[in-house]
Amino acid sequence: MHLLVTGAAGFIGSAYVRALLAPGPVEAAAEVSHVTVLDKLTYAGRLDNLDLTHPRLSFAQGDICDPELVDRLMARADQVVHFAAESHVDRSITGADAFVRTNVTGTQTLLDAALRHGVDRFVHVSTDEVYGSVASGSFTEEDPLSPNSPYAASKASSDLIALSYHRTHGLDVRVTRCCNNYGPRQFPEKVIPLFVSRLLDGGEVPLYGDGKNVRDWLHVEDHCRGVDLVRIGGRPGEIYNISGGTELSNLELTELLLKACGGSWDQVRYVEDRKGHDWRYSIHDDKARTELGYRPQRDFASGLAETVAWYRNNRSWWEPLSPGATA
Ligand code: NAD
Repeated sequence: MHLLVTGAAGFIGSAYVRALLAPGPVEAAAEVSHVTVLDKLTYAGRLDNLDLTHPRLSFAQGDICDPELVDRLMARADQVVHFAAESHVDRSITGADAFVRTNVTGTQTLLDAALRHGVDRFVHVSTDEVYGSVASGSFTEEDPLSPNSPYAASKASSDLIALSYHRTHGLDVRVTRCCNNYGPRQFPEKVIPLFVSRLLDGGEVPLYGDGKNVRDWLHVEDHCRGVDLVRIGGRPGEIYNISGGTELSNLELTELLLKACGGSWDQVRYVEDRKGHDWRYSIHDDKARTELGYRPQRDFASGLAETVAWYRNNRSWWEPLSPGATA
């Protein structure tokens, strides 16, 4: 079975491909005979996230909005896992164009080609941010979409387009919606690698607003396992939430990161809150647990310690990247 994976030079897609090619956490990896990665290599894509010498891996640099390239690659694909996206909320606030283009038009370009070539299944990787903020309780897959940032709105749009190809054309589309991921190789504009890289250098970290915003955290390997369970055992046209079960306010997260990096609260600078900052994201993932046997396997404390150790030991990966953004 030939799998086309988009955006796999980035944080989560590359973890997914590494797991697929190195038998381990991703289930039934052996069934995948070849993986082709399509990635534009934007600022967020890094070739050194992938083992390009692997005999079962091919890499194509290009844009998911390029219909000819997408058509050519889709002709060889049996299944698709679609990670490629503009993924940073702050960037969507200062410029939404690339988000609408890649996340919406790019997804539609892939779906058209998938339909034309009759691919078996198309897993669209999305986010809990499409549901918007929730003061208490947690969203299920049945809850309405209420995205607030341009990033979340572009992902919600792409979810709807993807699902419409199932309802209208019968394409086997499956959508995953996951909470915040952490782990190695995350671009240091996102809160955990931004804080870790600055704290390891003894610098300051910017904390938005009063720091009370709450996020649910999941190790990237658990997310990848969830995505593959959906690819293998999910049902066509269905949405699966994937949650982590570790809800933390940014203040609590900062405390943990300061401890892990040997920093102090003197290094924390409170900055003006992000525009339209969602207060809390929370999702139920009972459906993935009941239907697919999904369960996070990585414990947050050890996963975070391991992640901090990775950044400590891999300065050459992140030092050349200048974040220039707040968390
Ligand atoms: P990332 O920004 O690290 O990687 C995105 C990848 O997509 C990069 O390699 C980039 O080069 C590529 N890309 C961007 N535009 C492209 C285009 N037009 N054509 C081809 N490739 C393009 O993102 P990530 O954190 O790995 O997120 C991957 C997916 O998971 C995204 O769809 C995101 O919405 C979703 N997601 C992320 C999180 C999270 O916490 N990071 C949580 C839930 C869902």
